[in-house]
Amino acid sequence: MVAEPRIKGWCPGAWRPMATGDGLLVRVRPRLGQFTRDQMLALCEAAETFGSGLIELTSRANLQLRGVTEAAWPGLLDFLVEYELVDPDPHSERRPQLLLTPDWRAGDATHETACLLLARLADMAELPDKMGVAIDAGEAPVLGEVSADFRIERSASGTLLVRADGQELGTPANSSAAAVELLVRLTHWFVASGGRQSGRMRRHKAPLPGWAPASMPPAGAGPRLALGKHARGQVFGLPFGRAPASVLRAALDSAACTAVRVTPWRRLLVEGSDQGEISIPGLLDDDRDPRLAMQACPGAPHCEQASVETLGLAERLSGRVEGSVHVSGCAKGCACRQPTDLCLTGRDGRFDLILSDRADGTPVATGLNESDVLAYLENEDASRL
Ligand code: SF4
Repeated sequence: MVAEPRIKGWCPGAWRPMATGDGLLVRVRPRLGQFTRDQMLALCEAAETFGSGLIELTSRANLQLRGVTEAAWPGLLDFLVEYELVDPDPHSERRPQLLLTPDWRAGDATHETACLLLARLADMAELPDKMGVAIDAGEAPVLGEVSADFRIERSASGTLLVRADGQELGTPANSSAAAVELLVRLTHWFVASGGRQSGRMRRHKAPLPGWAPASMPPAGAGPRLALGKHARGQVFGLPFGRAPASVLRAALDSAACTAVRVTPWRRLLVEGSDQGEISIPGLLDDDRDPRLAMQACPGAPHCEQASVETLGLAERLSGRVEGSVHVSGCAKGCACRQPTDLCLTGRDGRFDLILSDRADGTPVATGLNESDVLAYLENEDASRL
């Protein structure tokens, strides 16, 4: 296989990895939001062989490997294609990403709609890179807070609903096929009405076409998947949104896994367990665990740019700070581009402490070791942060 030149961008894939401080970031999109057990084991092997050994779960329910070198990338691509984790056609990554309700069942409206839409991808207009579609047609939508430009969901009256992002109301559809047809037309309307300049549906201010009136609200939102036992298996949480491949492999083995479904909430649904709830060291099983919301980059030794370990300090800070927390191995701030209440940034083997800003913000204290950080927070009453 001859790999295309790498392109930097905001929406990395496997064919278009993103250069980050710790090497290339390679993102893999699961078909229908699900990996087979063999694919998941292959991804674990790929993370260890070609990357840093860590696997991350993104806010759009993709899995990504970090720390891939330029030299290792072509071999990784071959490996991923072999296990059907990546389409051999590089153009496939340019198509909009589909994000599914994680606990769809074979033949239900989410599954049927997704299959129909996959068959119509070539009929859709060519959309800007970051655009995506949420297919959320269970009894109650659960993906309302997840980034998507068009949604096929359940309406308040129980029909399917096609809703453009930024609109409170959508257009009802009387079947999955009708919803998909409407969506395909909307993608062409988006492009024809100048949407490419906006980049995303939410920013596109053109009025919706008359044939897609926004007339009906979606049904009330449902809960996200709870950690623990599930009718299809068990839901595990990933601390800071990532886990070592070895930890994930242990979950696959212990839970007698047949497949894994990804979610946008730092949770994986491991399907197939017919035993009681199990605990896997390194994975979370309590919905209140603050590590589900904290931000931390891989840090040392996973990233060459880092002069400090991040994950240990993030663990120690877990539960000590009320507000948002970001622990970054350096000022690049790969894990979080937004300001957080507390940000700790590594520099020359020590930490700089930043309040209410990003990793490249101005620190209020510098050159701290871990004990200094904890002492600072104790003195400042970290519960107020
Ligand atoms: S922020 Fe973290 S992952 Fe990014 S370059 Fe710095 S140390 Fe590496």
